[in-house]
Amino acid sequence: MANLKTKVIHGGISTDSTTGAVSVPIYQTSTYKQNALGQPKEYEYSRSGNPTRHALETLIAELEGGVKGFAFSSGLAGIHAVLSMFSAGDHLILADDVYGGTFRLLDKVLVRSGITYDLIDLSVPASLEAAFKPETKAVYFETPSNPLLKVLDIKEIARIAKAHHSLTLVDNTFATPYLQRPLELGADVVLHSATKYLGGHSDVVAGLVTTNSENLAEKIGFLQNSIGAVLGPQDSWLIQRGIKTLALRMDAHSKSAEKVAKFLEESEAVAKVYYPGLPSHKGYEIAQSQMDAFGGMLSFELVDESKVKPFVESLHYFTLAESLGGVESLIEVPAIMTHASIPKEVRELAGIRDGLIRVSVGIEDIDDLVGDLNRAIHLIGA
Ligand SMILES: *Cc1c(COP(=O)(O)O)cnc(C)c1O
Repeated sequence: MANLKTKVIHGGISTDSTTGAVSVPIYQTSTYKQNALGQPKEYEYSRSGNPTRHALETLIAELEGGVKGFAFSSGLAGIHAVLSMFSAGDHLILADDVYGGTFRLLDKVLVRSGITYDLIDLSVPASLEAAFKPETKAVYFETPSNPLLKVLDIKEIARIAKAHHSLTLVDNTFATPYLQRPLELGADVVLHSATKYLGGHSDVVAGLVTTNSENLAEKIGFLQNSIGAVLGPQDSWLIQRGIKTLALRMDAHSKSAEKVAKFLEESEAVAKVYYPGLPSHKGYEIAQSQMDAFGGMLSFELVDESKVKPFVESLHYFTLAESLGGVESLIEVPAIMTHASIPKEVRELAGIRDGLIRVSVGIEDIDDLVGDLNRAIHLIGA
């Protein structure tokens, strides 16, 4: 088995079988000629299948150790398709700091079809054990999570879920398969917002899903085609182009984020830093056991909460924007931006304070990044 560093380049379908093109061609077509009535070839219609998308779907399956991959028009479209496996009466267990859009999908859309859920602190195994009901069908979480970088023990949660005949669904957006492979640790389905690190350049919105179960692959494939939120050929190509440099980028993101985290932790203006690569982080040990490095995401709280606005607005290289995982550094305030759709009480119960600042550390020069933060801290007099 090739190393991940090789797989990101040579995995999937990296050479076009008809021309030998080393970059997968963009098959910009909606339909395919059938030579005989009732006998379509491999492809018949691009919602059901497209060679450019198929190459990407094969690639994500290979990187995560799945049997089949699925590409969607956004991360949420993929999450929607996977959660559409469940029906009225089914119960899901959700991590209490799940991505805001995932929470909204369940709380505002899927509950209407009779699916129920509970938000649980999954870092406490006893809470998880107590959360199962006879109708529980799956446990859904992210690790590291958004925005507190909570690290959850994939192996342990998958073991408990299995004992309760439930599936383990892991959103692996923050780590990517280069740093963490949930299927190897017992998860059943892995989901990605490929908009983030897999695309890597903040220029495309996409979702990827993979599973190591043939049975689940069949169900997800049926839902992908039935719901129809597939990824177009141009965007499928862009994600593959992004993945080619995934190893280089994730190494750079991880290295720089660790330095930024250490700088912030030593600053007197900063009250708390959340980064799985800091020995002070609650999930440091689990992170070490299940991740190959700690990624580019971190968050922190200023000592003086009233300085959050001037601080984030005075930075040069950290663009004030939602999203993450691109080559450029981004900064945001979850309570006002990415997590605004979660009710304040629910948010605070999960530890997401109004003054929390989340950073996606890019791959700019590390001295420029730390210098920028240092300058902003002094500027606001914190
Ligand atoms: C962005 C994100 C999503 C949603 O993906 P979209 O591509 O924006 O639809 C889901 N999970 C996590 C962890 C994310 O960061």
